[in-house]
Amino acid sequence: MQGYIEKAGIPHELLDFYGELRAIQESYVEKCSLSLKASGTAGSSGAAVSKVSLLQQIQPVFDTGLFIRVFHDITGMIARHRPGLEGLAAIERIPGPLLSQFFAEAVNRSDNRSFDETLSESIYGKRLSATPDINPGLLKFIFTNSIKPFLKAFVCSFEAGQVTAAENHPVCPVCGGSPDLGRAAKHDGQRYLHCSLCGHEWLCKRLKCPYCLNEDHNLLSVIIVDDIPGCRIDVCEACGSYLKVILDETGGMPELSEMADIETVFLDVVATRRGYKANGGRSYALEP
Ligand SMILES: [Zn+2]
Ligand SMILES: [Zn+2]
Repeated sequence: MQGYIEKAGIPHELLDFYGELRAIQESYVEKCSLSLKASGTAGSSGAAVSKVSLLQQIQPVFDTGLFIRVFHDITGMIARHRPGLEGLAAIERIPGPLLSQFFAEAVNRSDNRSFDETLSESIYGKRLSATPDINPGLLKFIFTNSIKPFLKAFVCSFEAGQVTAAENHPVCPVCGGSPDLGRAAKHDGQRYLHCSLCGHEWLCKRLKCPYCLNEDHNLLSVIIVDDIPGCRIDVCEACGSYLKVILDETGGMPELSEMADIETVFLDVVATRRGYKANGGRSYALEP
């Protein structure tokens, strides 16, 4: 489906920045999966259809030292691209044990809160209020991106077809992340949601808001942008959110490009100008 997305006009700095971010994340996926295998817990439980994510059911042991390395690599990369970015120096000074604790809280949730809620509570909670120089939006961006290789390794630890998701689930059945993109498959006419954290896809009714679960057809519509073929924006008037949907004409393997979110950044501009808000794991966008 690559090639359907219009890349012309997207600032080089933005593509370079996110390309480098993806490269760092990819470089860690294998190390993360080795540390998972060493813990001996991944994939040991059956993938039952459940409202509790597999991450919560299995509670794998992740390597927190490795997490801190990813976190510092990403922070350093941002510092190279944006020297002097406000709030970054304070983030670089966060002690390792506190980062490890936040990481453990985010991945080992035992309650029904979403990943996003848990992380927001850690970051906006009182433990960081003693360091007012920290930019919480930026910290959340770095934290979320540092966790991705671990969740990707986790999802890869399952055999194809082993995850039998409850259809129309509002969050990812593997890791509990929110959907950031949709994929409309031409061959079966279905809409799949793509997890913003681990990349897993699951089925969701076309006429249903993935965020507030509204199914009133009168409150669901579509924006087509003529200049950007191969995509559409599904919007919900009930909660005011939007979902970018990539039209997949290939009928091949269900997988979105790693850069699909960035390559469709113009759709974000169109949707936000019309007053819709981004949802899912996209609460902070780093502008170059
Ligand atoms: Zn996920
Ligand atoms: Zn909605």
